[in-house]
Amino acid sequence: MTNFQQIFGALPEAEASAPGRVNLLGEHTDYNDGFVLPTAIPQRTTVQLGLSKDGQHHFYSVELDERVSISEGHHTPSGFASYILGCVRLLEQEEYTVPSVNLHVTSSVPIGSGLSSSAALEVATLRGLRSLLNLDIDDVRIAQLAQQAEIQYSGVQCGIMDQMASSLADTEHLLFLDTRSLDRQVIPFPSGAEVVVIDSGVPRTLAGSVYNQRRAECEEAAHLLRVKALRDITDPQAVEDLPEPQRRRARHVITEDNRVLEALQGVSAERFGELMNASHASLRDDYEVSVPALDTLVEMLQETSGVFGARLTGAGFGGACVALVATGKGEAISRDVMERYMRSGYTGRVLVPEVS
Ligand code: ADP
Ligand code: MG
Repeated sequence: MTNFQQIFGALPEAEASAPGRVNLLGEHTDYNDGFVLPTAIPQRTTVQLGLSKDGQHHFYSVELDERVSISEGHHTPSGFASYILGCVRLLEQEEYTVPSVNLHVTSSVPIGSGLSSSAALEVATLRGLRSLLNLDIDDVRIAQLAQQAEIQYSGVQCGIMDQMASSLADTEHLLFLDTRSLDRQVIPFPSGAEVVVIDSGVPRTLAGSVYNQRRAECEEAAHLLRVKALRDITDPQAVEDLPEPQRRRARHVITEDNRVLEALQGVSAERFGELMNASHASLRDDYEVSVPALDTLVEMLQETSGVFGARLTGAGFGGACVALVATGKGEAISRDVMERYMRSGYTGRVLVPEVS
């Protein structure tokens, strides 16, 4: 058995949790200072904590069945402990005193499927430390420290969306976020709609290198258009004189930002679905980050009755697809689409709705 008491020989003194997230609209916009529209998923990461008696931090993950101990002056660990220690170190940089802790992690957020198990781990850890140590620190600051923990201690150059969604979103609402100003707004789902997320089963092998290339192409486009970031352009016509591929890359970002802003006005589920379908076409044709498995899965979702719209979610080149479907139909639709997807020779997995 692997509960806190069995691992650490004492009862936990504090507990906190944080959800994973899925982004419904606003893909590849965050590094262009643009707009995103994620929601929390039902799966959560839970941490339990207690004070450690031996002067060392001890971290344990149920999912990895791994225990890591960190003594004073220890070099930065790799793996899951780096995310947790990063959170501790960031709090110390804020001048909080953090004593040695025992920290136990358990989670239902799928790891490495693009639903942000890393942000859920960071936000849960910071919430747990806030509760154990009675820290006066708000949810936005938690998201910012979580992002810095991931960048500085795990070496992942992530934007702020994942941590803001995990810290501020719930499963009943969408979180609109302006990634430049951090202005945000919690808005309801389009009426009569719920979310389905299906993992395509295709690993995101090319995602890293193409991601960097796309970032560079967007920066070139912004430079040619004489703006700080593509978010400063609202008219897609403005890109027409750019060379290729910068023209199409910029067109994706600008139209995607516009789609998020339209959704923010409060549109019907049907219109929201159309915006998601247009987002997928733009990611496939202009941004060129889709692959055949994602296109197949998205098309199967789009042609299913009760589905308002669907698109790939996350960086692309594998990972998951998200769909907006009629309330109450998520389970039946995802089961049906998964069967058809498997019959075409792929091995996918339904992530939302959660199947018990
Ligand atoms: P994701 O899309 O799920 O965020 P990442 O590669 O960004 O994928 O983060 C996954 C990493 O986060 C894991 O390799 C692990 O180091 C850490 N992690 C997430 N959840 C857990 C957990 N429950 N236990 C231990 N480590 C976890
Ligand atoms: Mg992550």
